[in-house]
Amino acid sequence: MNASQPQAEAGAPVESRPSNFIRAIIMQDLKTNKYDGRVQTRFPPEPNGYLHIGHAKAICLDFGLADEFGGKTNLRFDDTNPEKEEQEYVDSIMEDVRWLGFHWDGLFYASDYFDQLYEWALQLIRAGKAYVDDLSADEMREYRGTLTQPGRDSPYRNRSIEENLDLFQRMRAGEFRDGSRVLRAKIDMASPNLNLRDPVMYRILHAEHHRTGDKWCIYPMYDYAHGQSDSLERVTHSMCTLEFEDHRPLYNWFIQQLGIFPSQQIEFDRLNLTYTLLSKRKLLQLVNEGHVRGWDDPRMPTLSGIRRRGYTPEAIRNFCSSIGVSKTNGTLELAMLEHFVREDLNQHAPRVMAVLRPLKLVIDNYPENQVEEMEAVNNPEDPAAGTRKVPFSRVLHIEQDDFREHPPKQYFRLSPGREVRLRYAYFVKCKEVVKNEKGEAIEVHCTYDPATRGGNTPPDGRKVKATIHWVSAAHAIDAEVRLYDTLFSRADPNQSQEGKEFTSNLNPDSLQVINKAKLETSLLNASPGSRYQFERLGYFCVDRDSSPGKPVFNRTVALKDTWAKIEKRPPEKP
Ligand code: ATP
Ligand code: MG
Repeated sequence: MNASQPQAEAGAPVESRPSNFIRAIIMQDLKTNKYDGRVQTRFPPEPNGYLHIGHAKAICLDFGLADEFGGKTNLRFDDTNPEKEEQEYVDSIMEDVRWLGFHWDGLFYASDYFDQLYEWALQLIRAGKAYVDDLSADEMREYRGTLTQPGRDSPYRNRSIEENLDLFQRMRAGEFRDGSRVLRAKIDMASPNLNLRDPVMYRILHAEHHRTGDKWCIYPMYDYAHGQSDSLERVTHSMCTLEFEDHRPLYNWFIQQLGIFPSQQIEFDRLNLTYTLLSKRKLLQLVNEGHVRGWDDPRMPTLSGIRRRGYTPEAIRNFCSSIGVSKTNGTLELAMLEHFVREDLNQHAPRVMAVLRPLKLVIDNYPENQVEEMEAVNNPEDPAAGTRKVPFSRVLHIEQDDFREHPPKQYFRLSPGREVRLRYAYFVKCKEVVKNEKGEAIEVHCTYDPATRGGNTPPDGRKVKATIHWVSAAHAIDAEVRLYDTLFSRADPNQSQEGKEFTSNLNPDSLQVINKAKLETSLLNASPGSRYQFERLGYFCVDRDSSPGKPVFNRTVALKDTWAKIEKRPPEKP
């Protein structure tokens, strides 16, 4: 142990991480030797879509807590709904978990256990704990009662064990049509917990399964499959989201009736973020209806989407560990996630200069054919990243935003008569502006001061109030840059106006494409996935749509723009 670590009492290190009640449960179980000192967790996605940032929270908990205590984590696909599940989703989920930086110990599928689950169902029937019910779905709903009224027994509830065995085996053999019968656990139709009112264990479904093909035409329900799968894998701590809290008694009931390994279910709060939808079903709808370009559209909250957007696994892990877990659901600000992305990229992303909306700047007193190599710092946060040479010449591109013919108060960038610093180059002073017939500035003429080379203060000690970035026109590469805004324009995209779908909350301006941004030469061969800070603009990464000589960049996240804030501030009251 680190000797400088603060000590609460002799030998007890002070907890420095965000408190986590699940960690506390595990530590208690280790102390009492409940599971022989073992910690075994699992991450159990249903392969019915791509993983999203909410799943990242679960992954970080499942893998992170096990790692912390020298435990193991299985990846288990909860594949009990054959109609919605596909191999494509299985593959993407494995890729995403690896990308986040985790390694599973066992790789399992609930479908690995179909035979065992079937045997256990027979066992429960023989014990008088399960029966075949012929009620229709509507009738079952009616018999189930409500939160305030007890349910009623199905007329088929007291079938003999022999009849139940016969019917269940014939269900499996494919003798009955979909939906005509189910197998139910015989628990208590009057239980205050609706999940215990004889829940369905198996339904008939003549559907092709992505792994078991047509071997089965009955499939177990989530509640019947999940706990037993945990138990078979000797999972000690089975973490899931709060909506399963009311299912826990049922989870325990099956385990007790079968007398198998007692895995324990622990519930935590679901991650919700403003301006974001975290539901595979709704994300699938966005893909299917063409509102986005695919599951990995950089506006999507999927792990593949935010990966393509340029988010790093470190940033996501840091975010997940900082938010901790609780027992009540809430909604976090999207800005918080972005904060962690900026923080990580600030440490690691090389700086480059890029101009998104170019305005030509001509330095009238700079020699016509001269090119200088200016030394630019690659990353002020990381001296080891070194420097690079950036070509400078007489005609440059600067950002349209960095020039105002009539500068408002507090605007210190270029304007007629004003002097500014060109980053890593020289001080330039604006002499003249050339406009088109619409009155828009198309060319700015300046003079430069050779005594300010490198952007340094001249001998007379003259100061400038702004530094702007630039790209040499003759050396610039053209690029497409995709700017993203939130996919939804409402903080709570689920809340839509009466009678309208959540898609009515989509933000029509979530994607803005800039076709001819000008980038410094060093970016010509940047490989897809690489991330940069475009100085003063934000973090950007190379998209896989790039082609040789024609890079495409995604804006990962903007820098905080102080000017935008000043400009948007409401006018002061007189
Ligand atoms: P969705 O509604 O998006 O399909 P799900 O809960 O049905 O989500 P699963 O594939 O069953 O998705 O989830 C795998 C694991 O991830 C579960 O343990 C689930 O509780 C957890 N999980 C899913 N969404 C979130 C979220 N938003 N926050 C935290 N954990 C989540
Ligand atoms: Mg689900």
